[in-house]
Amino acid sequence: MFTPPSLRSHPRMQLKTLLNRVHPLKSFVYTEARFVDADQALAIEVVIEPRANSRPVCSNCGQRRTGYDHQPIPRRFQFVPLWGLAVCFLYTMRRVDCPRCGVTVELVPWAEGKNHLTTAYQWFLAPWAKRLSWQETADVFRTTWENVFRSVRMAVSWGLSHRDLGGIEAIGVDEIQWRKGHKYLTLVYQIDGHAQRLLWIGQDRTVKTFLRFFRMLGKERSAALKFVCSDMWRPYLKVIAKKAAGAVHVLDRYHIMAKMNQAIDDVRAEEAKRLEQKGEKPVLRHARWCLLKRPENLTDRQAVKLSELLQCNLKAVRAYLLREDFQRFWEYRSPSWAKRFLKQWCTRTMRSKIEPMKKMARTLRSHEALILNWFRAKGLMSSGVVEGLNNKVKLTMRKSYGFRTVGAIELALYHSLGKLPEQESTHRFC
Ligand SMILES: [Zn+2]
Repeated sequence: MFTPPSLRSHPRMQLKTLLNRVHPLKSFVYTEARFVDADQALAIEVVIEPRANSRPVCSNCGQRRTGYDHQPIPRRFQFVPLWGLAVCFLYTMRRVDCPRCGVTVELVPWAEGKNHLTTAYQWFLAPWAKRLSWQETADVFRTTWENVFRSVRMAVSWGLSHRDLGGIEAIGVDEIQWRKGHKYLTLVYQIDGHAQRLLWIGQDRTVKTFLRFFRMLGKERSAALKFVCSDMWRPYLKVIAKKAAGAVHVLDRYHIMAKMNQAIDDVRAEEAKRLEQKGEKPVLRHARWCLLKRPENLTDRQAVKLSELLQCNLKAVRAYLLREDFQRFWEYRSPSWAKRFLKQWCTRTMRSKIEPMKKMARTLRSHEALILNWFRAKGLMSSGVVEGLNNKVKLTMRKSYGFRTVGAIELALYHSLGKLPEQESTHRFC
């Protein structure tokens, strides 16, 4: 009978052959692959046995030792599913007679410790948990949320211990509320032109919290920092002055404008209430976003609303105009001209009789030097990155909605924004 040449050159493929290709094991053999009914669904079970005369490895010291005995029943390890079928390894663990550690359970290359998930399966699930929510990942691959969580935890801890922290010149610190009632996280990003990633997460936003980051970074790397970018949160300012004294400290444009927007919003809310009490036309109703967004980002309806508002003599409108005027500040090239503008703007604002804006002007005055540093760092670090990463953090936190513990949120953030390295393997399963 005629056999086409392409079929002649390869051995008949069995599941064992496939496994040996994508997931080879030293000192162990795949002996049998069979169908089983697991939870009324078809699944595949693969039996593993030690190679003849191979000696087990002590899980405590990693040395090959003499075998002691077998465990009574085989252990099951979940492997990467194949064509919608769950795949499970079956292996009877040996115990080791180790002269150094006593009797221990052997070390196997496909799983760590007491884990019932194979390492390959964990490295398969973890990247999916970046693209989908953890629950979606669990649903798609018919596994549990806990298994996805464990896989992400393994990938993150491997990534953190294998990442390279060399060459960091610019960092940005930011805070984010993770739960109502003043529960904050401190986030530190690398914001160099060539590398942008989440470097560190700490609970709370105190001096102590931020000091822990510098302890992690180490003295030498802290001294090598050239730019540090932050908001006006006092504990951060304090720690930066102490731990990164050699770096140019920049107050971030994004945070300054966010603070100014907060002031405008306070003015608007207060004025809207006052108009309502006086029984006047509620012009400020539905006006929040007209005043907070930049004019170029308004929808058509918001633009109409804004032009209406600009006709009225309102404090909220005057506050808005002050902010729009302030945008010019960031366009300056020369720090000395920017400084002149800042002074003029603050003087005008102090005369405005709008208390939240006056407070803003006072804040800007007292941080003048750090704000002007923005012009020294312009083009040398990407300060817009902090805003971009901050948005990604919020997105990740929304996607991980339902996480009850701060530990899980931290894992999700490191996993999606840390650009952590991944372990190399013979075959990429996804
Ligand atoms: Zn040992």
